[in-house]
Amino acid sequence: MAQSTRITATIQLLGVIGYPIAHSLSPIMHNAAIADLKADYVYLPFSVRPENLEQAIAGFAAVGLQGFNVTIPHKQAVMPFLSEISEIAQAIGAVNTVYRTEQGWGGTNTDVTGFLAPLWAQPQQWNQTTAVVLGNGGAARAVVAGCAQLGCAQVQVVGRDRQKLEAFHHSWAGSPFSPPAVYLWEDLPHLLPQANLLVNTTPIGMYPHSDSPLMPDEFKRLPAGAIAYDLIYTPRPTKFLQLAEKQGAIALDGLEMLIQQGAAALQLWLGQPVPVEVMRRSVEKVLT
Ligand code: NAP
Repeated sequence: MAQSTRITATIQLLGVIGYPIAHSLSPIMHNAAIADLKADYVYLPFSVRPENLEQAIAGFAAVGLQGFNVTIPHKQAVMPFLSEISEIAQAIGAVNTVYRTEQGWGGTNTDVTGFLAPLWAQPQQWNQTTAVVLGNGGAARAVVAGCAQLGCAQVQVVGRDRQKLEAFHHSWAGSPFSPPAVYLWEDLPHLLPQANLLVNTTPIGMYPHSDSPLMPDEFKRLPAGAIAYDLIYTPRPTKFLQLAEKQGAIALDGLEMLIQQGAAALQLWLGQPVPVEVMRRSVEKVLT
């Protein structure tokens, strides 16, 4: 059982910046780990409107924040205020974790680490797999980079807007990752029979909705042993995962991604291993 954080005069500050921020599970998850480690830190939520972002970051420097997570809508907007940005964050075009450097702030992105954590545990020959990614927004960028790191033979991104898809494809030029092939939703029936990994990065099916990005019959097209991965973690399971599992697919939801991206950030700030199981239990408790 995690104890609560004791606020001392020497306590070091961490936090998460977003707008809105009230829904974030990060304070619960990080403070549970901090309490378990008996570390002299506290992790706070900061609700910052887009127009106040620059001022907020200057304020974080002024009060000596050790680091912070960045969530919607600041993941791209924060980048001009950083003096160094990791290669993975540059490739994705978004920062979710900021840390102190000699020169100012450094930024990285731990979403890829989070996305990959439950996949590394699967006994797949990734270099023989095709990944089909539904959606071409911010999370899809981390998923495409993750699939490239897994070594997937092919990565195919499915979206509903041809122009956005083309922009998504071209945005990978100059990055260490090959641009994924892009398709419209109407092409999906032809893609599903090769989809060893099918990832939903759209918000379709997120609480309070209970719809699925695919029709029930479409899941029948998936090959044997396919993995269906939904980045959504409320409800648990989503309709997408229920239908996929019914057709024999392996189902993964987005909770482990959330936990593991947080664990990777906390480990970076504290410079020591963090209790992932404590973080997992703290969010599972809130979500049940
Ligand atoms: P985003 O940048 O807004 O992207 C959403 C994507 O979904 C866009 O490509 C959008 O298409 C598409 N989309 C939305 N509604 C659609 C619909 N009705 N039909 C077809 N496509 C639709 O959002 P995001 O930041 O990538 O987040 C996406 C989801 O991932 C959210 O549910 C979020 O909670 C989840 N997520 C989970 C984690 C985790 O740690 N588990 C991390 C990040 C995100 P258009 O571009 O055409 O509008």
